[in-house]
Amino acid sequence: EQKPTINFGAGPAKLPQSVLLQAQKEFLSYNGLGISVLEMSHRSSDFTKILSKAESLMRELLNIPDNYKVMFLQGGGSGQFSAVPLNLIGLKEDRCADYLVTGTWSAKAAKEAEKYGKVNIVHPKLDSYTKIPDPSIWTLNPSASYVYYCCNETVHGVEYNFIPETNGVVLVSDMSSNFLSRPVDVSKFGLIFAGAQKNVGCAGVTVVIVREDLLGHSLKECPIVLDYKVQAEMNSLYNTPPCFSIYIMSLVLEWIKNNGGSIAMENLNKQKSSMIYDLINNSDGFYVCPVGMNCRSRMNVPFRLRTEEGDEALEKEFLDGATKRGMISLKGHRSVGGIRVSLYNAVTLEDTEALASYMKEFQKEHM
Ligand code: PMP
Repeated sequence: EQKPTINFGAGPAKLPQSVLLQAQKEFLSYNGLGISVLEMSHRSSDFTKILSKAESLMRELLNIPDNYKVMFLQGGGSGQFSAVPLNLIGLKEDRCADYLVTGTWSAKAAKEAEKYGKVNIVHPKLDSYTKIPDPSIWTLNPSASYVYYCCNETVHGVEYNFIPETNGVVLVSDMSSNFLSRPVDVSKFGLIFAGAQKNVGCAGVTVVIVREDLLGHSLKECPIVLDYKVQAEMNSLYNTPPCFSIYIMSLVLEWIKNNGGSIAMENLNKQKSSMIYDLINNSDGFYVCPVGMNCRSRMNVPFRLRTEEGDEALEKEFLDGATKRGMISLKGHRSVGGIRVSLYNAVTLEDTEALASYMKEFQKEHM
């Protein structure tokens, strides 16, 4: 008997089954039109409806204030590592930006920003990405154009459970891997971006939410497809948008809404992640999570077996055993090794329980 597959991948990641079924049902003929969304003009009235439905659901689910634009762009999170400085570093004449570097993704973003201005790393360099330096030791530059941080470091499993205080400087956040996994007060931010392929859809579309008064300051070398003012004015249709990815995202947003919105997602994600962290904490050191207690991610749970450095042979056995039980994509990022469990919105409580019971069983056998 074939066990159902449970996907714990870090992204592209699991999608709700009902979304896949609906996309399948509508695949050949959307809305009785006789053509697929894949074949539809991005300027047709049917696609326009999909686009505006995605935007209005996004606004509703995140309670986005009216003075913010919502864009659906291409180029991924990595494209935004460039787009953010290209559009915002010129907000002030000094062309300085403050970066909090708490993992792989914020490090990449800071490196990209250096091409366009002066980058100040706000805190002493970390020797391992397992904590968030206390704000009391940050040296924020009051004349920075913006302060940048990555809200959830996908590789290292480090998540902010607070919004940094910037004393009026524009705040920018990469929320690629915890977007819509919990409520967020958008009004505290100048800009939020997120690739869709973890919590809100498939790869190809990147959500950008930006406060209107920040538009119109792009550097002259900013590629036009990345220019927020142009894309905002054209309603993300300066050029052909990732139509099918936007369609899938609209289905996922509807699924989030029907399942109780961001508060319900947060409750579910708290339950799932505490189930795994409690098990780790109570494993007598068999499972080791290197991340500080106050910044453990609800989305990505990294751990090693037996020691902080991990027992690689045993980890391989763990992964092989998981695969036999249909639990896939649990291997840690190639840069850190070990195990990583990703618990995005579409991963159910039952999925998580299945993993937890395997973890308990595996520990009993190998302790
Ligand atoms: N930021 C974060 C937090 C990510 O997890 C990722 C990808 N895993 C990226 C940015 C880069 O996204 P992309 O691959 O879509 O460029």
